[in-house]
Amino acid sequence: MQNFTRRNFIKTVGIGGAAALTGAGCAGNGPSNGTAAAHVIVVGGGTGGATAAKYLKTFSPDMQVTLIEPNATYHTCFGSNWVIGGFAAMSDIEQSYDALNSRHGVNVVQGRVVGVDAGARTVRLDDGSSVSYDRLVMSPGIDFKYDEMPGISEADAERIPHAWKAGNQTALLRSQLEAMPNGGVFVIVPPPNPFRCPPGPYERISLVAHYFKQEKPRSKIIVLDPKDGFSKQGLFEEGWAEHYGDMIEWRAASSGGRAEEINVNEMTVLADSGFERVKADVLNFIPAQHAGQIAHDVGLTNDAGWVPVDQLTFKSEMDDNIYVMGDSSVAGAMPKSGHSANNQGKIVAAAIVRELAGHEPINPSSANTCYSLVTPDYGISVAAVYTYQDGALGGVSGAGGVSPSGASSSFRRQEAEYTRAWYAGITSDVWG
Ligand SMILES: Cc1cc2nc3c(=O)[nH]c(=O)nc-3n(C[C@H](O)[C@H](O)[C@H](O)COP(=O)(O)OP(=O)(O)OC[C@H]3O[C@@H](n4cnc5c(N)ncnc54)[C@H](O)[C@@H]3O)c2cc1C
Repeated sequence: MQNFTRRNFIKTVGIGGAAALTGAGCAGNGPSNGTAAAHVIVVGGGTGGATAAKYLKTFSPDMQVTLIEPNATYHTCFGSNWVIGGFAAMSDIEQSYDALNSRHGVNVVQGRVVGVDAGARTVRLDDGSSVSYDRLVMSPGIDFKYDEMPGISEADAERIPHAWKAGNQTALLRSQLEAMPNGGVFVIVPPPNPFRCPPGPYERISLVAHYFKQEKPRSKIIVLDPKDGFSKQGLFEEGWAEHYGDMIEWRAASSGGRAEEINVNEMTVLADSGFERVKADVLNFIPAQHAGQIAHDVGLTNDAGWVPVDQLTFKSEMDDNIYVMGDSSVAGAMPKSGHSANNQGKIVAAAIVRELAGHEPINPSSANTCYSLVTPDYGISVAAVYTYQDGALGGVSGAGGVSPSGASSSFRRQEAEYTRAWYAGITSDVWG
């Protein structure tokens, strides 16, 4: 990371920015004024939602905050490629909701939201109960558009895992790789833009190659990409050439990479404009994506399937009392990442506390950092800083940067250490 200066870093959204975000500390106009009796419901206990719930209570301790999430624990997608690569366990990426409740006073409800009555300001849960809110925050992540790929449906995910929501799918893909013979072929079909975690498929390719190199060196990886380029491409390819020789074959869309159809029974992908059937021993098809289903059901999405918001506050353009952030939202230049969702959760918490206290929203800087491992000891990164400008979140020129090419192995090892430190830091900030 070259140009990510300390001056820019301290201006971005972090724990230390809490007072500046909410206006706390100004005599007589603290953020809790007018917010104590308010009830905010947060839908989704993933990266964005858990951050928003925690920081609502941090900024306004008397506020009532209810977090609704169907799963008893959360498995982070970040770090899930380490599990797939065989050097981390599922328990290493599992997060509990205990601290949100016991340390921060968030009311954590295990359930799925199945409907919202925006007029009455109530949400309906899958057990039939209804809960009313003053403000609703939604961070339901992504869902998949299986209908864009002929031959495969959601029911096939048990045989052909996407592993793009961490948990059972991660463990399933790992077990398939373990069962694959030495000399087998792993075929991965990354999703088209826009999608959750732009460097994620390429980190996965790297770490599957790492596993094969150790345990199944005669195996091969074929990447059938619907795109002609990808995030940190030069850096990934430099690492692949150095560590994996010709094990990885990346095919760009315009060079025969575009998958046309999947035959689930034969485990083949029709590619190259129908001229080639690529046979897989393990197939990782990652479908095209759109906002989490509940955002569609509530009528918050645009024609492209994402949620348009006021990018200053993440308030939905469709409803004045609903805020949507994280992967589901349209967030200008910010990528769909955990780091972005974490920053956005704090922006939403501050915006709600300020609004309920009668204050105008402020314009905080926010940041994204995406670390990726090419091997467990070889890390690369990209970072950027964003502010709201001309109606959208745009990058701040001169801030952020990418890892240099041609760096020494000790530099790459240090970035791998930063990757693990980043994981420890963000998980403690969100769920700790
Ligand atoms: C392989 C992989 C690697 C990644 N690596 C990185 C990385 O290194 N760095 C990084 O910054 N990002 C990374 N990401 C991206 C990151 O995981 C996501 O961008 C981030 O989790 C988005 O947060 P979110 O809150 O929008 O969604 P999520 O974290 O997915 O949370 C959504 C939550 O909403 C819940 N939910 C959905 N519908 C309902 C409903 N109806 N009622 C109640 N709850 C509901 C879900 O159960 C889920 O817990 C990676 C992603 C993948 C797939």
